[in-house]
This record gives sequence, C-alpha cells and structure tokens, in this order.
Amino acid sequence: MQEFQQYIDGAFSDGASQFESLDPATGRPWALMPEARRADVNRAVDAAHHAFHAPEWAGMTASQRGKLLMRLADLVAEHAPRLAALETRDTGKIIRETSAQIAYVAEYYRYYAGLADKIEGAHLPIDKPDMEVWLRREPIGVVAAIVPWNSQLFLSAVKIGPALAAGCTVVLKASEEAPAPLLEFARIFDQAGFPKGVLNVITGFAEECGSVLTRHPDVAHVAFTGGPETARHIVRNSAENLASTSLELGGKSPFIVFEDANIESAVNAQISGIFAASGQSCVAGSRLIVQNTIKDAFLGRLREKAEAVVIGAPDDMATEVGPLCTARQIEHAQRLIADSLEQGARLVTGGQPLDRAGFFFPPTVLDCSDAPQAPCVQREFFGPVLSAVGFDTEAEALQLANATEFGLAAGLFTRDLTRTHRMIRNIRSGVVWVNTYRAVSPIAPFGGHGLSGHGREGGLAAALDYTTVKTVWLRTSDDPIPDPFVMR
Ligand code: NAD
Repeated sequence: MQEFQQYIDGAFSDGASQFESLDPATGRPWALMPEARRADVNRAVDAAHHAFHAPEWAGMTASQRGKLLMRLADLVAEHAPRLAALETRDTGKIIRETSAQIAYVAEYYRYYAGLADKIEGAHLPIDKPDMEVWLRREPIGVVAAIVPWNSQLFLSAVKIGPALAAGCTVVLKASEEAPAPLLEFARIFDQAGFPKGVLNVITGFAEECGSVLTRHPDVAHVAFTGGPETARHIVRNSAENLASTSLELGGKSPFIVFEDANIESAVNAQISGIFAASGQSCVAGSRLIVQNTIKDAFLGRLREKAEAVVIGAPDDMATEVGPLCTARQIEHAQRLIADSLEQGARLVTGGQPLDRAGFFFPPTVLDCSDAPQAPCVQREFFGPVLSAVGFDTEAEALQLANATEFGLAAGLFTRDLTRTHRMIRNIRSGVVWVNTYRAVSPIAPFGGHGLSGHGREGGLAAALDYTTVKTVWLRTSDDPIPDPFVMR
C-alpha cells in the first residue's frame, strides 16, 4: 500500500500512528495515512507560530509573498494531472471533474498572488489638529484551515491563498476520509520556496486532531469548511482561544424553474447541479422547485437524462457519475429515501444502491409535491438525490425556496426580467445563479448565511478576513504636550 507523510516545519514525518484510506471504487484500503495526535498538532502550530514571527516571513515584502504564491500556482498547474488522479483515487470523484477543477485551482493561487501587494491600509481625515491617523492592515496570525474530503484542493486553496497573501501562516488539517491529495500537495508546496513552517499539513480525527488544533492558544483564526454540527464544536472550542472563525457549511439549495425558462438549459443545469460530484457538493441544487404547468414534462426529461448517465470507474474519462466517498453515505441515502417515501414522496428514478463493489448509488429523483416536509426536502444529503416540489405562483416559489435553515446558493431559471429582480432580492442565500448554475471564480466571493455559515471565500473580501486593523495615532507637533494638571 502507498504510504503518505505529514508536513511540519518544512519536513516530512510520520504521525503518531497510521490509518487506512479506502478506495471508494472498490471499497478496499489502498493507502496508509499519518494520523496526527496532540503532539503532532502542537508541533505544527508551534512551527506556524514561529514562522509567523520569524524575519524570513514576517520581514518579507508583500510583493515577495506574491511571487512565491505565483510560483506555487505554476507548480499546481504543472502537477495538476497527478493531483487530480490522487483525488480521484482517494475520494472517488470522477477524473473528468478533478482534472478540470484542479487545473482551475492554480488560478486561485494566481489571483491571491496578484492580490498580496494590494491589501491596503487607510489614512483617516481625523478631527484633531497636529495628528496623523492611519490604519495598518496586518496579518491576523496562525490560521487553522480545516477542510472536508470533497474538493479539498479547491477548498484549501481558497483558504491558503488569501491567508498567505495577507502574511499569515497556516496549519492545514486534511479530512481523515481522503487526505492523500493534500498530503501530496504539501510536497508541491515544499518546492515553491516558502520559509519553513509557513504551511503545515496534517490529518487526523475529530477530537485528537481537529479539537486540539482549534483550541490551541496560538491559533488566531479558524477557516472551516464542513458540516454544521462540526461547526458548532469549532465555535464552542473558539471560546477557549477566542479565535475568529469563517464557516463554509452545507446547503439545501433551491433550483427554481418557471414555465418561461429555457427548458433545455434548465434540465442540463439541474442534472449537473445535483449529479456532478455524485451530489457530494455543498452547492448541489438538491431542491427542484418547478412550476406545476411544466412539472411532469420536466421530471420526465430529468428521468431520461438521469437514466442515461454513465456510471463507472472514477478514473475512466467516460464516466459521468462515480461512487460516493464512504459506505456510510449509502446507508444514509437509503434511510433518507425510505423515510421520504413513507411520508408520501414518489420515486421518479433511482433509489437503490448498485449491485457492484464500491460505494455506488445511482442518480435518484423523488417527487415530493405531496410531502414537502419529507427529509429529502429538508435535510442536507451529500449524494445524488434530488427532491422536486411543484408550485403555482411566484410567491409560492419564493416561500418554498426560503423554507430552509440553510442559505448557501440558489438557482433561478426564467426569462422574465422584472420577476428575476424580485426573486434575487427576496431569496435568502449567499449566491444566486440566474439561468446558470455552479459558476465559481477566484474573483467572486462565495459563502452563505444561516446554517450555511458566515464569512466569504474568494475575492478581496476573503483576504481581508485574514487581516486585523491596527490604528496608529501620530502627533506631529514638536510643542510639548500641555501639563494635564494645569487648568487653562
Ligand atoms: P465534517 O464536518 O464531518 O468534517 C469536515 C472536517 O472537520 C474534517 O477534516 C474533519 O476531520 C474535521 N472535524 C470533525 N470534527 C471536528 C472537530 N470537533 N474539531 C475540528 N475539526 C473537526 O464534514 P464532511 O462530512 O467531511 O463534509 C461534508 C460537509 O461539508 C457537508 O455539510 C458539506 O455541505 C460541507 N461543505 C461545505 C462547503 C462550502 O464551501 N460551503 C464545501 C464543501 C463541503
């Protein structure tokens, strides 16, 4: 079996122990991963803390940081095929998707490379004579970056890029479910020429690794992507070190289709919106809200497309839907579907795991028009399961769209301009895609509210999250400061 190592203070080492990672396409172990426990986590934070203050990093100009990030971007682009193959192997995400996504990850590093020397302070027109007052934007400190197993090269780039651009140092915790791509990324990072300790990459389990990391007194900010339950633990732990947090959590994103939409576009966007990455995506458009006048025809088209999808080995370029990452998700899907059917949902297609080795579940569609409270409409589920609900009026569509505790993304398909604007204004979500879905860019901030978390990744706003403001007051008069005890 292939063996991986952790990356601490510029050196590769074994963890406290090893654990197996499973290949989702076969269900069998394929690699041994280094498990970080308390001592490794402490070592990683110490290294990041030391690097944060050391002149090699703290004394570097922002432009020099930008150059290093640019070098990293080039290395990621150069090694993208290797990283994509590893992500496919460890997570089961199909090679078509990992290849495209990781090639684009390099663009995120490029964007933040360019931004490094554009994070500016400000000068204040202060209301006092003989005073200069300005704001310095300073790096916030050591960042704990914690990511889930899906799209982890992407989800870590949107943290590492802005954090390093701002001058922070990072301890990155890869998910224990599939850490291979990030442990390999550490080897690529090592070639970029950053001072040691600027980035440390470890992996491990919730308590002995994750909790120890987020509670560490030298961690200033926790940048987390994952589920709401884990986020609650992290926020509770941040009561210990009072670290700030940015939380990118789950979603139950509405995909709203009006009868005047370009139906071909809407069908294709819905298929990729829910079945890309086998539905294991925070922005999956998992709640179809479709006008009743076109509902049956629309579901018919979805069914045809879903049943024609090529399910197969994730490393085959012809595969369109691969396995889920873990066996647990198959059990979860079966329970969710059974409970929803019991509550009145109607199965349109799919619904049963495939009879083959590995964690395969077919594209599944449920018509929940008579069961809007069914669990598959309400709960986030990381898998290829779409629930559909019909509506008659715009008000009803909006009410259904907002009937969730999440607020990450929303899709809207219509050609009516004024309705588009009304819907955009009233939908509660961090991102609205109109007549498109899933578009992302380093230039555009991304994030949610409610149970989908807070903070934004991407764009300038994300880099500012990794800074703190220092207000400087400078008296410009050479006259002595008057004696405060002499009355005037
Ligand atoms: P998860 O919350 O179980 O795990 C995420 C990470 O947190 C893992 O590295 C895990 O080891 C770590 N962790 C677990 N317990 C911890 C603790 N007590 N302290 C610190 N770290 C801890 O999530 P998952 O099941 O791996 O991923 C799926 C979730 O991620 C879904 O809810 C999905 O929507 C969400 N997600 C959100 C986005 C986004 O950008 N909004 C993107 C991808 C995934």
